[in-house]
Amino acid sequence: MSEQELTPKLAEAKLQFNRIEVSYKVRKTVAAQSGNRCAFPGCEQELMLDGEAFIGELASIEAIHGAGPRFNKDSNPSKLASSENFLLLCPNHHRIIDQLPERYTAEWLREAREAHLDRVREALSQGVPQPKIKLAPQVEVSLQEAVGIWNAFKENASEEFWQELFEQCPMLIAQLFPRSAFQIGSKSYVGGKSLDNAGGNLVDFVYASKTTNNVVLVEIKTPKTKLLGKRYRNNAYSLSEDLTGSIVQILNYKDSMIKEYYSLSNGQTPFSAFLPKCVVIAGSVESEMDTATKLKSFELFRNEGSGVDLVSFDELFDKVQSILDITTSKPPNSTAHTTDSPSSGL
Ligand SMILES: [Zn+2]
Repeated sequence: MSEQELTPKLAEAKLQFNRIEVSYKVRKTVAAQSGNRCAFPGCEQELMLDGEAFIGELASIEAIHGAGPRFNKDSNPSKLASSENFLLLCPNHHRIIDQLPERYTAEWLREAREAHLDRVREALSQGVPQPKIKLAPQVEVSLQEAVGIWNAFKENASEEFWQELFEQCPMLIAQLFPRSAFQIGSKSYVGGKSLDNAGGNLVDFVYASKTTNNVVLVEIKTPKTKLLGKRYRNNAYSLSEDLTGSIVQILNYKDSMIKEYYSLSNGQTPFSAFLPKCVVIAGSVESEMDTATKLKSFELFRNEGSGVDLVSFDELFDKVQSILDITTSKPPNSTAHTTDSPSSGL
């Protein structure tokens, strides 16, 4: 592969005083090899959103300037400028690998790059994209359409159905967060692999705040998931097994995520604000809480808290509907004013 050629002297000088330039051709090669997916193992983040916004970031395995992570002064500069020294990552994983270079060594990243190339080749050779590797640009569902789907499919008890809707409409879950947040992955690896690299936890969704490093883990069930279990005493209900199970599961994900990042950063964690928030979306309050005792038991539990936010499907979609109402509503009696010229109110 003939990549950017530099005379050794010039290359050395560039490396000492400046960053190596990465040619357009190399950037294009790396983009073509990405299969439109973040190359971080387990990350399914698409890099081209809506066929328009491109969020992929070119990450170097060995830094191309002296102050960068994994810089190796003995490396051959023309090798550093070749496509083999780069991965295309989502912004979040780019930040993670560069902040934890002891964990994400050059060797680790080379392996990740190879594994990603294999994954893309495999998906292409099968002709049909695998379910989790959607190479074709995905149609996004608008909030308006999502509410329509909710109204028509409230009774759908398939977790895959809702997983897919939340994937195709990332803005849905984002409505739950006070600050703007974006989906950084679905079915994402959150640590917990055993030493032989087996197992590992896959959380349904990971969101990140746009303004802080904070991460939100989201587990979803279905609108048909029961929230409450048996009547415990006259005036109390226990939580259902499904809901308790989901809460324990997501706390487990949080635990493994924190441990994995903290223990590996030698106390100098870049995630000083790294306390993942946890959300479980399950059930329907409206159709299940048909007595005051049931509602009270549920509210007592979720307000006193397990550290996990519980949101039901109907509450989520009600919230989305009211946001849509606000953003798309016309003022009352708007028809009476439609003939007014825009300047008449001044
Ligand atoms: Zn990623």
